[in-house]
Amino acid sequence: MHKKLFIPGPVDVREDVLQKMATPQIGHRSKAASALQKSVSDKLKKVFFTNNTIILSTSSGSGLMEAGIRCCTRKRAAVFSVGAFGDRWYKMAKANGVPADKISSVPGQPTTVAMVEEALATGKYDVITVTHNETSAGIMNPVAEIGELLKAKYPDVLFLVDAVSSMGGVKIDVDGWGIDVCITSTQKCLGLPAGMAICSVSERAIEAARQVENRGLYFDLVELYEYIQKKDHQYPSTPSLSHMYALDYQLDRILEEGLENRFARHKQMAEYVREWAEKNFALFVEDEKYLSNTLTTIKNTREISVSDLNKKLAERGFEISNGYGDLKDVTFRISHMADYTLDEVKDVIRNINEILGL
Ligand SMILES: *Cc1c(COP(=O)(O)O)cnc(C)c1O
Repeated sequence: MHKKLFIPGPVDVREDVLQKMATPQIGHRSKAASALQKSVSDKLKKVFFTNNTIILSTSSGSGLMEAGIRCCTRKRAAVFSVGAFGDRWYKMAKANGVPADKISSVPGQPTTVAMVEEALATGKYDVITVTHNETSAGIMNPVAEIGELLKAKYPDVLFLVDAVSSMGGVKIDVDGWGIDVCITSTQKCLGLPAGMAICSVSERAIEAARQVENRGLYFDLVELYEYIQKKDHQYPSTPSLSHMYALDYQLDRILEEGLENRFARHKQMAEYVREWAEKNFALFVEDEKYLSNTLTTIKNTREISVSDLNKKLAERGFEISNGYGDLKDVTFRISHMADYTLDEVKDVIRNINEILGL
């Protein structure tokens, strides 16, 4: 039996979207491939609220995270972490020999403007990275406010944002907030299979990258950017055209739903899960200003066995997530992203209530 995935990626993909993955292949150097890739980029610009260039990468989101920090850091990067994915960005920097420092928040707390200001006041950094929506903690960071600080006081610092688990579920105003590189994956809020990463890049991020000597090749943002400009939206190596067909179709659906409606639906689902969690357990993130709209991390105050709960949910055709890393069993997570409806979220919660006798 198929289990409906209430885990924070991959999520269930609608049958009609899945079918688009089976579109017959075309040559990746054809005019049709250029047209498809341009169409996908133009629609993504709307979802990202940007006029910057969109780069598609046949990899998962991690590929472009590694690309971003490696290609854009000339001097030193300040990596702000509020959990597992921030930690991972720091590991990527280290693994690539990129000078970087990690600035961690207390567990459950956001990256604050004050923390960014304190780090940048040292003058050591030309890049900062922030996780917009930390999928381990269920925290949504104040990226807009951090962007304001950069515009006002540190206009030369590049702003890299991990929006892997929020883009398409929450408004991220890339140009308004001054984000230079904004990264996402297909398997989360966009509601597609895993296998493609997407980012927007500003001109100044590309200018900065040109000054970096060792950018690698497959994930070289300059090479990708120049190829897109010179070769009419084509890519240096063979991309997953299957994903592009599905993405082109799904983006039409997303834009038809209306971005504001989509964001409101995510918020509604989040509010429902939060209310249930507060009544029966507790929320891991205490300050409601920083709660994620795309997944909820719940403190396991009843000390239930999350794996037993998941086994019983599986018999009913559902799956939720245990806590991530150190937060395993201490927390568990329910995602409410992509194409799920409030009724579907109510359904999984009703099943959890029945299993736990709540
Ligand atoms: C899932 C996730 C990633 C990793 O993305 P992949 O597509 O699995 O490489 C990075 N950051 C966040 C916040 C995520 O949720």
